[in-house]
Amino acid sequence: MSAVVYLDNAATTPVDPRVVEAMLECLGPAGDFANPSATGHEPGRRARARVERAREEVAGLVGAAPGQIVWTSGATEADNLALFGAARFHRSRGRHIVTSKTEHPAVLDPCRQLEREGFEVTYLKPAADGIVSAEQVAAALRPDTILVSLMHVNNEIGVVQDVAAVGRTCRQRGVLLHVDAAQGAGKLPLDVERDCIDLLSLTAHKVHGPKGGGALCVRREPRLGLVPLQFGGGQERGLRSGTLPTHQVVGMGRAYAIAAAEMQADAERIGGLRDRLWQTLAAVPGVELNGHPTRRVPGILSVTVDGVEGESLLFSLADLAVASGSACATTSAEPSYVLRALGRSDRLAQSTLRLSLGRFTTLAEVEYAARRICEEIERLRAIAPEGIGAWRR
Ligand SMILES: *Cc1c(COP(=O)(O)O)cnc(C)c1O
Repeated sequence: MSAVVYLDNAATTPVDPRVVEAMLECLGPAGDFANPSATGHEPGRRARARVERAREEVAGLVGAAPGQIVWTSGATEADNLALFGAARFHRSRGRHIVTSKTEHPAVLDPCRQLEREGFEVTYLKPAADGIVSAEQVAAALRPDTILVSLMHVNNEIGVVQDVAAVGRTCRQRGVLLHVDAAQGAGKLPLDVERDCIDLLSLTAHKVHGPKGGGALCVRREPRLGLVPLQFGGGQERGLRSGTLPTHQVVGMGRAYAIAAAEMQADAERIGGLRDRLWQTLAAVPGVELNGHPTRRVPGILSVTVDGVEGESLLFSLADLAVASGSACATTSAEPSYVLRALGRSDRLAQSTLRLSLGRFTTLAEVEYAARRICEEIERLRAIAPEGIGAWRR
C-alpha cells in the first residue's frame, strides 16, 4: 500500500501510461512538436494529422462528427465558451437561461456574470435525490428562454441526469441545451445526436488524460452561433484562437479512445468496488448515501456520517486522499452547496466524504479505505461531545 490511498476526484488519479506514451511522441527533438497550423511543411502536417486523429477519437466517444470539436484548456473554458458564447450570440432572441443549483462553479459563476450583464437565470432545485426532471425544465421555459445548461454527472454526488429527456424537451421548444459532461464522458454512454445536445463540455483529466486539456462539442447542423471568448489567429474555426497544444490534444484523444474501448469493463469493475465500499460503510449506523441510489456513475460515492465532526473525520483520515465536497471547495470551511440544495443541514453537509474510484483503484485500496473510515468513525464518536448527531437515539 502506498503512503496515501487516492480516493479523491478522478482528477488526482494518474494519467494512463498509454496516454503518456502518445503525448511523449509529440515532445522532444524527435517528436511531432511542430505547430499544427504550420501545414506548409511536413512536420507541421504530421502534427496536424495527429490533432485531427485526436479530434476523431474525442468526437467518436460522444456520437459527434470531428468538425464539431473545439479544443479548449479544459471543461471550465468549454463551459465559459458555451454559456457566454451562446448567450451573447443569441441575446436578440431572449435573455433567459435555465440551469440548476447543483451545477459546477464553471457553470454557476458564468451564469452570475451573465446576470450582471442583463440576463435572467432560473436556478432549478433538484429533488432530494439530486435529480432535476425534464418536467421541471419544461415548466421553467419561457418565450424568452434561449439556453438550458444541465450537467450530465454531478461531480460531488455522482448522480446522472436524464439529459436525453431534457434534450428532447429543449429541442421541441427551440431552446439550446448545454451539457457539462466533464464527469460523465468516458464513464457512461453519451450521444449528442440521439440526446439532442447542442453544446457539450468535455475534459481530459477525469478519464486519465492530462490536466489542462478539454473540448467543447458544438452542433453543426443547423449551425449554432457562438461569440468567441478570445480573439487572435483564428484557430478552431475562429472559436478558440491560440496555438494548439499538440501533446495535450493527442493525450486527450488517446484517453478518449481508451475510454471508448474499455468503458464497459471499467464501469463493471469500478461499480463493483464502489458497491463493496458502500456495503461496508452502510453497515455503520448513521451513515447515509447522498443522491439517487441507482442513477449514478460507478466511480463516485458520497456518504454523510452523522455523529462526527466532518473536519475531524477528514483530518484523521490523513492516509487517504479523500474530499469532503468538490475539489474546489475543500479549502473553504463552507458546507457544500450541492448537499445543501439536496436538503442536507450545514452540519451534515460538513460531515460528508466524497470517495472517488478510477481505473487504477485496487480492491486492496478499497478494503483498506473502508476499514480506516469505519475505525475513525467509531473512534471519533467515542470521544465526541454530547449532542453531536442524532444517530445514537
Ligand atoms: C472537473 C469539472 C469541471 C472543470 O473541468 P476542468 O477541466 O478542470 O476545467 C467542470 N465541470 C465538472 C462537472 C467537473 O467535474
